[in-house]
Amino acid sequence: MTTEVFRRVCVLYTGGTIGMGYNADGLLEPMRLKHLEEFLIKMTILYEKKPNETEEQARARIVSKDGWIFLPQKAVDDYPSVDEKTKYHVLYKIKAVEPPIDSSKMVPEKWFEIADRIRAVKEQYDGFVILHGTDTMAYTSSALSFILKDLKKPVILTGAQRSIFHPRSDAEDNFIGAMLIAGCYSKTAALQKVMLCNDCKLFQGNRVCKFDCDSFRVFDSPNMKPLAYLDTIIKVRDCKSDPVEETIFVNRQETARDGGLPDVRLLRFFPGIQEKYVRSVLEGADGVVLETFGSGNAPEHDWLKKALIEAGRRKVVMLNCTQVYRGTVLPIYAASEAGVVFGYDITPEAAMTKMIWTLKTFPDFETRRQVLEASICGESSAPPKQIKFIQKILTQELY
Ligand code: ASP
Repeated sequence: MTTEVFRRVCVLYTGGTIGMGYNADGLLEPMRLKHLEEFLIKMTILYEKKPNETEEQARARIVSKDGWIFLPQKAVDDYPSVDEKTKYHVLYKIKAVEPPIDSSKMVPEKWFEIADRIRAVKEQYDGFVILHGTDTMAYTSSALSFILKDLKKPVILTGAQRSIFHPRSDAEDNFIGAMLIAGCYSKTAALQKVMLCNDCKLFQGNRVCKFDCDSFRVFDSPNMKPLAYLDTIIKVRDCKSDPVEETIFVNRQETARDGGLPDVRLLRFFPGIQEKYVRSVLEGADGVVLETFGSGNAPEHDWLKKALIEAGRRKVVMLNCTQVYRGTVLPIYAASEAGVVFGYDITPEAAMTKMIWTLKTFPDFETRRQVLEASICGESSAPPKQIKFIQKILTQELY
């Protein structure tokens, strides 16, 4: 007897080229959800309709009465099943984060909204796929890796360089690849995290950079190999994460303040950088990501050291990461004197989003620094640490 295993995936459509089509004026814009959903159903019918079936009969088989859509079974059958008697099926529902946007319009508030929507329905699904424009996908995937670090389900961002409605597009491949991982591999512990699927590769979401605007190979993960390769055979790399031996204890009363976003800034060093410019970036900031030279070097100016030290005294949190594409910042350079935290090999996208998340989540200056200098969810090769929330007992209460 065959055992049928059904895996349920929630698809969140945020916009991007993958869902773009021409409007009445001949201009490209993100299509509405219904249009995209209908196209995906038709695509499955095309692959799955049996010769003796009408299109209506095939549709009734592919879309259940309560709205679940089956992923093409021919693609699901590529999944190396545990045994011949187990048959997997991937079903999905597609929902929109309104309004669908070009991802250049993405804002941090939306990261938190997407995360809230995922958390709200997490028990109903095995995995999540987020359709997103490629321009800021690396920021969203990094941000979600921090916000959803305790979710323990696969969340996969994907998009395309060309619309799914175009006959020569990377969209279908990316979509089906992401769906297979979110569905079939949802119980694989190493893949229960935020990831990004592009061009037959599955990357860890907080390790990616967009590095090509033209090719279908849009993303790279400069300091970490892909987690899986979706070639003719799907190969998941045997990736063991380092044991987490240290814990950062955080007083629960000091967390999760609602309210606005922190003022986070980017200071990229360049030869000839001027004091006035540096001070204008540091003045009034809550947190600053420094993009330094090579392995964390800064120009040798007394005024620069002074400006950084003064910013540190004002409790501006500063994170040093390299402006070089690949490699790591070493904790040996002058910036450490100013209390700047070392980001190791964190990408600029992960550094920026981690800074925003950290400052929004932890009001205490020392906690912020501790969180930033550790690897919280595999975002860098810094020593890994976990965060534990505790109920602080005030000393006075003991007497
Ligand atoms: N500008 C588009 C976006 O990021 C590009 C894409 O989707 O690839 O939304």
